[in-house]
Amino acid sequence: MNTEDDHPELAPILRRIPPEWGRNIEIGPGWHSILVDLDKVLAEVDPDYVVHQIKEEGGDLDFRFDSGHTDRYQQMRALVRAAEQRASHLCEECGKTGVLHRSRDGAVRRLCVECAAAAQQGYQAVSSDLETRAALYRVAQQAAALHRLLTSLPPDASRRISAGEMDRVSQLASHALWASTADLHERGEYAYAKQVVARAAELAAGEEAP
Ligand SMILES: [Zn+2]
Repeated sequence: MNTEDDHPELAPILRRIPPEWGRNIEIGPGWHSILVDLDKVLAEVDPDYVVHQIKEEGGDLDFRFDSGHTDRYQQMRALVRAAEQRASHLCEECGKTGVLHRSRDGAVRRLCVECAAAAQQGYQAVSSDLETRAALYRVAQQAAALHRLLTSLPPDASRRISAGEMDRVSQLASHALWASTADLHERGEYAYAKQVVARAAELAAGEEAP
């Protein structure tokens, strides 16, 4: 599976695996572009780095490599971690936003809703942190919009809204923002925060659809 003939974009990475280890990359096509990007940045640090194994483990990307330059290893490890983190929010089959799913036989994979259904193996979402955060981000957006509306009311209408009510809308907006993305920004997880915002935009598009 995943030989050079099937996936020519992976050929440069496959050639980094020592032949005696078996030149396989056992991950779905949705993550291939992550590997191609990762290979480019790793090669800039060490053009001769070696790949030991690339596989999917429990719905996550597992990328094992080595470098002859021990002084560069930590820098490379950080690049690998960033790529693995990127994969941890994307469908392994198509590359769209994905969450962990478990099949009726207990197999765990990171998939989007469409690919989970297409597999016809009874996949059910098991982790919905992304969905939870995206839904809360929608609340933050709507509460902020409501707050803007309230502050721009004509005086007669404004008099009928109490300061306490204004405050609660404002508190809801900041609380929902914190629970959806602000905590991620504080922890430096910018890529994941972006995924939350992207998923929230998908949800917003769905809300507008008839
Ligand atoms: Zn998919």
